[in-house]
Amino acid sequence: MDGAHPVIIIGAGPAGLATAACLSVRSIPYLILEREDCIASLWRHRTYSRLKLHLDKRFCQLPHMPHPADSPTYMPRDRFIRYLDDYAAKFDVVPEFGSDVESAVFREGDGRWVVKVRRVENGEEREYVGRYLVAATGENAEPNVPKIEGIEGFSGELIHSADYKNGTKYKGKRVLVVGSGNSGMEIAYDLSSHGAVTSICVRGEVQVMSKEMINFGMHLLKYNMPLTIVDSFLILLSNIKYGDLSKFGIKKPKDGPFFLKATVGRSPVIDVGTIHKIKKGEIQVLPAISFIEGDWVKFTNGESHYFDTILFATGYKSLANKWLKDEKNFLNEKGLPARKFPDHWKGENGIYSAGLSRRGLEGIASDARLISNDIDSTLKSERSMTKPSYEAYREERTIFPSKVLPAISFIEGDWVKFTNGESHYFDTILFATGYKSLANKWLKDEKNFLNEKGLPARKFPDHWKGENGIYSAGLSRRGLEGIASDARLISNDIDSTLKSERSMTKPSC
Ligand SMILES: Cc1cc2nc3c(=O)[nH]c(=O)nc-3n(C[C@H](O)[C@H](O)[C@H](O)COP(=O)(O)OP(=O)(O)OC[C@H]3O[C@@H](n4cnc5c(N)ncnc54)[C@H](O)[C@@H]3O)c2cc1C
Repeated sequence: MDGAHPVIIIGAGPAGLATAACLSVRSIPYLILEREDCIASLWRHRTYSRLKLHLDKRFCQLPHMPHPADSPTYMPRDRFIRYLDDYAAKFDVVPEFGSDVESAVFREGDGRWVVKVRRVENGEEREYVGRYLVAATGENAEPNVPKIEGIEGFSGELIHSADYKNGTKYKGKRVLVVGSGNSGMEIAYDLSSHGAVTSICVRGEVQVMSKEMINFGMHLLKYNMPLTIVDSFLILLSNIKYGDLSKFGIKKPKDGPFFLKATVGRSPVIDVGTIHKIKKGEIQVLPAISFIEGDWVKFTNGESHYFDTILFATGYKSLANKWLKDEKNFLNEKGLPARKFPDHWKGENGIYSAGLSRRGLEGIASDARLISNDIDSTLKSERSMTKPSYEAYREERTIFPSKVLPAISFIEGDWVKFTNGESHYFDTILFATGYKSLANKWLKDEKNFLNEKGLPARKFPDHWKGENGIYSAGLSRRGLEGIASDARLISNDIDSTLKSERSMTKPSC
């Protein structure tokens, strides 16, 4: 076992980083475990080169660090990765990399989470114990590839969007993109722009919007315009801009984009130019796949087409329910919070989830704030209400090895109340509050050589000598150097007084 931690965060993507930053702003220590060797591995290793944030940067920033004013409204991937690197540096987030979490179990006996980790570099097992656990392993932990009859006989390339970088090597190749979400639509555009003979499989209904429309809608929602009105407005704008897409094989749902996002977590497709290419016939739209026979794909409309590559832009799945051994069903069978927004982020026994509610970076920022506030207020109220057990007291000392508190207001029993309102229990109070001189207690000195504190009334450098042959040594707050100087001054003074007295008095015979 590797010590006890107040909070263990699993995952160092945007959600883990945001939670870590919010905790550190509140001076709550944490441990952050990450299976990869870098932060934001999804963005660094599993996104395509031309990716830009789909939303205005103001809806894509993490707590306590807005994007710089000079950064583009729709941030390119590389710029966003730089932002995340700067964010981690600013809040000093240093994950324990190469730590693949295999299980997290709540231990009833002492109310702690026991997290088992497999070290990636050597397979070694480690165990960590924490009071609170934050699941931040992402909705996109593992690529999702659908089962398709006959796929094992396909001799061309099968690739997931997670491994796609750009279309350079696909020039002249026949590529089928399966999935018509944002990644699928954008990758189809990229492939076609690189000269691939591109088809896209659009199975369900798709709500197509432009970036500007979604941005406008998000601002209206921010100013509390009812969602149904915003949705109706956006559907109208989309119809004006894109027209009837059903003749190109794209059916639109009757529900609006924000309603669908809120109810089933489905994002609208934010068009990057794909619709124009579809209308021009540069990208072919096909319906769902029935089965695959050799290198030929058969579709539900009866057509068959030959492909060199099938690219699955079929999303990802969360794996949090694989490692979280959670008897209270905080997560559902998809590894996402069982409770609906806005109650999704907190479970029982000190478990939280960040970034698992399909609300993008804005949802991540809100989860991180809620979680850190909750942990902070629980820690504070527990400390102020309960006399801690010896073990809890020892643990708290480990957790807060050097807590700085303001001035004491008063003491009540064994509890010390501070001027910031906090109360803490103590076994010992050690006063490092200095000393006082007692010289004015024994010196009966009518000439006020010493003040009421027992220190020389006259200021340095006239402090050392009074009237009637009185001196002080070491009472001028100047340490040993002052003492040495006082001693020299006093002995010189006494010596010269004595000498001059002796030279003035005629000795007796
Ligand atoms: C292509 C793409 C584009 C997107 N664009 C936008 C956008 O424009 N705007 C927006 O708001 N949202 C966008 N999103 C959605 C979302 O914001 C991102 O997916 C974001 O990265 C989610 O952050 P996260 O920290 O929750 O998950 P992730 O970024 O997936 O991070 C999770 C981390 O947990 C680690 N991990 C997983 N399992 C374990 C384990 N067992 N042990 C230890 N570590 C583990 C992973 O290695 C990873 O580093 C996009 C998503 C994708 C896929």
